[in-house]
Amino acid sequence: MPKIVEAFSRIGEENAFAVLARATQLQAQGRDVINLGIGQPDFATPEHIVEAAIKALRDGHHGYTPATGILPLREAICRDVARRLNVEVSPDAVMVMPGGKVTMFAAILMFGEPGAEILYPDPGFPIYRSMIEFTGAKPVPVPIREENGFAFSAQETLSLINERTRLVILNSPANPTGGVTPKAEIDALVAGLAAHPDVAILSDEIYGSMTYDGEPHVSLLSYPEIRDRLIWLDGASKTYAMTGWRLGWSVWPPAFYEAARKLAVNSFSCVNAATQRAGIAALDGPQDCVATMMTAFDARRKLVVEGLNALPGIRCRMPKGAFYAFPNIRATGWKAKPLASALLEKAGVAVIGGPDFGIHGEGYLRLSYAASQDAISTALRRMGDFLESET
Ligand code: PLP
Repeated sequence: MPKIVEAFSRIGEENAFAVLARATQLQAQGRDVINLGIGQPDFATPEHIVEAAIKALRDGHHGYTPATGILPLREAICRDVARRLNVEVSPDAVMVMPGGKVTMFAAILMFGEPGAEILYPDPGFPIYRSMIEFTGAKPVPVPIREENGFAFSAQETLSLINERTRLVILNSPANPTGGVTPKAEIDALVAGLAAHPDVAILSDEIYGSMTYDGEPHVSLLSYPEIRDRLIWLDGASKTYAMTGWRLGWSVWPPAFYEAARKLAVNSFSCVNAATQRAGIAALDGPQDCVATMMTAFDARRKLVVEGLNALPGIRCRMPKGAFYAFPNIRATGWKAKPLASALLEKAGVAVIGGPDFGIHGEGYLRLSYAASQDAISTALRRMGDFLESET
């Protein structure tokens, strides 16, 4: 029997997909399941973006494109960065990849190897740790704490850097907590990183357009002193409700760009041409679709947090970004994963247990509020009934 290489025994999973599969299975058996598990907007991609893709196909954009992405899209990305973040970026620094996931894989492959250490947020997007382990590097979790508003702490991050550290991964606004790291903390982190010039930085800002109550999103791109070692990640999945299109983009410093381009040539060749044209329509087109989505998310955010705080033993902070609530469930007496599983099997509500996002996720659940207000209200009622019947 052929044997696959050992690295695959270290690769992990994103449990949200397993929960989705189980929820779908239960639904196929006739059960009524509300899915607050999966992290994707429940909106359709805006019509003008879909039309741009159809037009691109009709216009004959069927072939390979440059591995880094077509120039008009890279230029549109630069305009978006200038508009939103007030930062000038050259199209020659931009890479278009099939999703933020592929971007982070490229970055982690570039710095992960046995003997290396990579810092990542915990709780955090589970793929960071999985990919770090795949490379043979040592994953070093940076605790993301509720008492710190689920922001990352500069001091704690810096204290974990040593001579083996090759890459630090940051994520704000954050999955799974909805935390947004304030400027003062980022200032302190960037200042501290000056003492570690050999450490690269991956800033995952896929939720950068998704903050509430006027909370500013502070981008790592706006710090010129780290630009020569910063990989900045964004994409269309969340902002434009385009998860299935597979379109991510990133800004790379000159020293890493050629390696990223070669990885693209050796793996996916390019993002499909019609999707890239749709990306131009998304970035250059009217942005009211984003505002409309954010207004809906904001109303649901308030509904879900208020509802969670009314449940016995549950306490939930108001998330400042993304579309996740991360309630503390310790006072219910439940561990997070058994509670998530019982809620799915017995109450028909799919949520994710905090430990699926790292060891510091115990005691929490993640609820994605990318669902209708009716669905959220029903889910909260079911959760309340379940918790009351169990105590
Ligand atoms: N980064 C974070 C923090 C995410 O939550 C996700 C998706 O859930 C991604 C990146 C990847 O998104 P995509 O690969 O769809 O661009």
